[in-house]
Amino acid sequence: MVTPGLLASLLDLAIVVAFALVAIGARAIDRRGFLASLAVGYPILLGGGLRWFVMVATFFVLGVAFTWYRYEYKKSIGSAQEKGGTRNWPNILANGGVASLLGLGELLGGGVTFAVLYLGAISAAASDTVATELGLLSRSPPRLITNLARTVSPGTSGGVSAMGMAGTLLASALIGGVAGALGVASVAGLGQVVAIGVAGGVAGSLADSLAGATFQRKSFCVVCGKPSENLEHCGEPTRFSSGLRLVDNHVVNVLATLVGALGSLGLYLLIR
Ligand SMILES: [Zn+2]
Repeated sequence: MVTPGLLASLLDLAIVVAFALVAIGARAIDRRGFLASLAVGYPILLGGGLRWFVMVATFFVLGVAFTWYRYEYKKSIGSAQEKGGTRNWPNILANGGVASLLGLGELLGGGVTFAVLYLGAISAAASDTVATELGLLSRSPPRLITNLARTVSPGTSGGVSAMGMAGTLLASALIGGVAGALGVASVAGLGQVVAIGVAGGVAGSLADSLAGATFQRKSFCVVCGKPSENLEHCGEPTRFSSGLRLVDNHVVNVLATLVGALGSLGLYLLIR
């Protein structure tokens, strides 16, 4: 028997599938990324409803837009995302995994704490993506977050730039603004929700850069010699140079979204 609840769940699934089909059609994700985005998107929509889904969709569109923005230039300096910027399943799970688990949490009970954590996780993922893509366009070389006197080449883990920081603020304020406008985590005024989003974005980006400068796996390209966060560059596997072997960019992304979630919760607890 088809109950209204089942019908609603099927409609939710149809929305997530439709969104992922558009993404795969635009080559924003690959085939396995399609499955990963269903795994991330469906619990979010089931647990948090359309408003939560609009937030993760905003992050996704923002990430795609900034990845494509001046892609040829970024490619020319050897720092563009591989494969035309098409995101693969590890990237999608790393950026959306924590948010997806929070969607499940919201489904099982949830409440404003989960909404605030969710806002922080999405804000951190968006901030990290936009900061990376804008940072690559920085005219002045990035500086190492643990030693600001030292400049590093664009794309180096742990490198920070004014452009990157602007990207963090822009993305997190936007995600906070969307959350406020939709009434997600409507703890007080719109300004406070934006501030809670920015807290998550800044905390997540800081965690990402600090991890990148310290224990994240570092490797370099055996073809062009450039540092790379990825396991592949110029079509060849990159060579390990330092850091913890298992802590690659994906692990750091999970960590950054967790710290982002806690950053937003921290500010929420302070100002509520
Ligand atoms: Zn290379």
